[in-house]
Amino acid sequence: VAELEVLATRDSLTGVANLRHFHHLAGLELDHARRMGRSFSLLALDIDHFKSINDTWGHAAGDDALKAFVAACRVAIREYDILGRIGGEEFAVALPNTGIDGAKVIGERLRRQVEEMVVRPAKGDVFDLTVSVGVAYWGPSDQATPEAVAPDVAELLKQADAALYRAKAAGRNRVMIA
Ligand code: C2E
Ligand code: C2E
Repeated sequence: VAELEVLATRDSLTGVANLRHFHHLAGLELDHARRMGRSFSLLALDIDHFKSINDTWGHAAGDDALKAFVAACRVAIREYDILGRIGGEEFAVALPNTGIDGAKVIGERLRRQVEEMVVRPAKGDVFDLTVSVGVAYWGPSDQATPEAVAPDVAELLKQADAALYRAKAAGRNRVMIA
């Protein structure tokens, strides 16, 4: 049963929460934040030029890049922060009880951590990665979004994605706030 649960909830390559499980866990935390009047932040992360990594170094090296990326993220966030893989090279982090200032600190720490590491693929040359980050935030003091119309995880992800898109357009390897 434990094995089946891992298969159903985890991304098999990197071991982080898969898309469905990320939505589930982040949703629980967002509900909790609302009830307790706490803040909640969400980061959308997308590895820069991932397609050209695959094209240049091969898919095995692409997989090694994804694993190295996740390892870098893990050292930059807290145990209880929720990391998920929500697309090919797109990841998200749910930050319980974290306001916009904290989310900015974490986004920037993640960006730097990834910039500073190198990928050592099983076969081939060492290469490096950068990541673009979009930040979305919900807090009880946010008058524009009273509880009744507070966004759900999907809506916050959409906002984080829009900020991520701006980070890409502005030249990548940077953090933008929704
Ligand atoms: P953790 O909470 O799971 O955090 C893992 C790593 O994420 C930390 O490793 C650090 O690299 C980064 N990190 C998490 N929160 C922050 C933060 O507020 N600021 C910065 N600059 N980095 C942060 P690190 O520092 O080696 O700490 C390892 C573990 O030691 C942490 O795991 C936590 O359990 C504990 N710890 C370290 N410092 C504190 C602290 O000031 N307060 C508490 N409550 N625990 C701490
Ligand atoms: P800081 O690194 O400037 O972080 C400021 C605030 O951002 C933190 O306040 C917290 O609300 C948020 N924050 C930063 N990193 C993380 C993170 O990885 N996950 C989450 N969920 N929130 C994060 P806080 O908790 O009061 O911590 C104050 C300061 O204490 C931090 O300032 C940092 O200097 C230190 N600290 C706390 N925990 C750790 C830790 O695990 N490792 C290290 N190295 N430092 C820590």
